[in-house]
Amino acid sequence: MPAFPPASAAAAPDSYRHRGQRRALVAELHRKGIRDERVLGAIGEVPRHLFFEPAFESHAYQDKAFPIGEGQTISQPYTVAYQTELLQLRPGQRVLEVGTGSGYQCAVLLTLGAEVFTIEYNRVLFERTRQRLAALGYRGAQLYCGDGSVGLPAQAPFDCILVTAAAPALPRPLLQQLAVGGVLVVPVGSEQAQRMVRVVRESADGFAREDFEEFRFVPLRGAAGWAS
Ligand code: SAM
Repeated sequence: MPAFPPASAAAAPDSYRHRGQRRALVAELHRKGIRDERVLGAIGEVPRHLFFEPAFESHAYQDKAFPIGEGQTISQPYTVAYQTELLQLRPGQRVLEVGTGSGYQCAVLLTLGAEVFTIEYNRVLFERTRQRLAALGYRGAQLYCGDGSVGLPAQAPFDCILVTAAAPALPRPLLQQLAVGGVLVVPVGSEQAQRMVRVVRESADGFAREDFEEFRFVPLRGAAGWAS
């Protein structure tokens, strides 16, 4: 398992005040129903303010989504915790994240000991986040720029696939890239509102689907997403 928090964190501006704000955020997520102690622990460790545009940094420990540029957002902490909890991730598992965005969710997955593959559609965000993750010492993830709605066939199969943008329907290529026993978590619905869906691949052709709470995500673009 990679050593986290990252070696360079001591040099990063993560203050006593920020750590206190994270503890308060973790308590808020627990009150809202997040129960997985490992997920809460990871949220308590990752310095979310370092994934923000400087103009919004003071809002980093509110339970809200915020702009990250290019018309995209860093997901609300409750949403990150909710999706991560549904994955039921174990250390060492291979996880594909579709929608790298700010890199925050990727850092949470790394902190949980996952082997992370993450793919971002927008080249500006991809470059910015690649540099940010390296500067913060999160070096364990493999980052890709491209259409993650069709997955990463060359790296499949995955134990978990996490989609952090709204899909119009279950993306078939992602289902096919799940290992048997693997879990896909993806928001599915219209561009206005989506249900969180978890699919478990029970056998080569057997999939079990469960629907959960309603959320609102930015659209998944690409071949198995919404037209750009
Ligand atoms: N997980 C991110 C984080 O921790 O900051 C938040 C992701 S944001 C809600 C959704 C991201 O999905 C955006 O950065 C967007 O550019 C990206 N996206 C949309 N369609 C995509 C696709 N087909 N492949 C990869 N990324 C995509």
